[in-house]
Amino acid sequence: MKLVLLGPPGAGKGTQSMVLSKKYNMPHISTGDILREFVKKSLPLGIKAKSYMDKGELVPDDIVTGIVVERLKDADTKKGYILDGFPRTVKQAEDLDAALNKSGSAIDMAVYFQTSEATAIERLSGRRVCKVCGFNYHIKNIPPKKSGVCDKCGNQLFQRPDDKEDTVRNRLKVYESQTKPLIEYYTKKGIIKEVSGDLGVDGLLEVLSKIFRDAKLA
Ligand code: AMP
Repeated sequence: MKLVLLGPPGAGKGTQSMVLSKKYNMPHISTGDILREFVKKSLPLGIKAKSYMDKGELVPDDIVTGIVVERLKDADTKKGYILDGFPRTVKQAEDLDAALNKSGSAIDMAVYFQTSEATAIERLSGRRVCKVCGFNYHIKNIPPKKSGVCDKCGNQLFQRPDDKEDTVRNRLKVYESQTKPLIEYYTKKGIIKEVSGDLGVDGLLEVLSKIFRDAKLA
């Protein structure tokens, strides 16, 4: 199944993507993760993207769409994939649909993670990430066994620069103005399902598994 996960930053899309990717054996494609990797490697696209990311602004459409269209040519995406954090503008969604259409493919379902602003801010400001393996923690909800240290690989945890409160507020504003219109875009296509991003990881997995079964996608 070819899925798009929609919702504000902090809605739990990334965490749920990892769980779904494992359960349904399909790749989790996060444009945020790909861009952060480019930044880490100081690749030209990463250097360009960093100035936008640090401010909580969107990286230009052509850069991000180009990255995703290339990624979707990989063999592991043939049976399905989860797009997390892409598309984020109507232009990205239109360009994605056009690119998929060329190869006779299409998005099966857009899942909208409905979450309150308070929850999103609480989740993002408490998020800590491992510098080396990228595993995500939360200081209250998913604390590491030893404060500041990754359970998986023993390396140091850090706060993403764009998870600081001011940038989080800007990311939520950007979401409202540029990404929220996608709800209407996918509603018009008749392929959107809404779930509560406030459910825990397991509760959400249960709800989503039923939605996929009912839609005969799994
Ligand atoms: P995320 O990890 O999804 O919260 O993304 C982190 C940052 O990467 C965002 O705040 C944007 O600056 C950039 N980014 C990720 N995905 C996109 C996208 N589809 N379009 C534009 N910018 C993006």
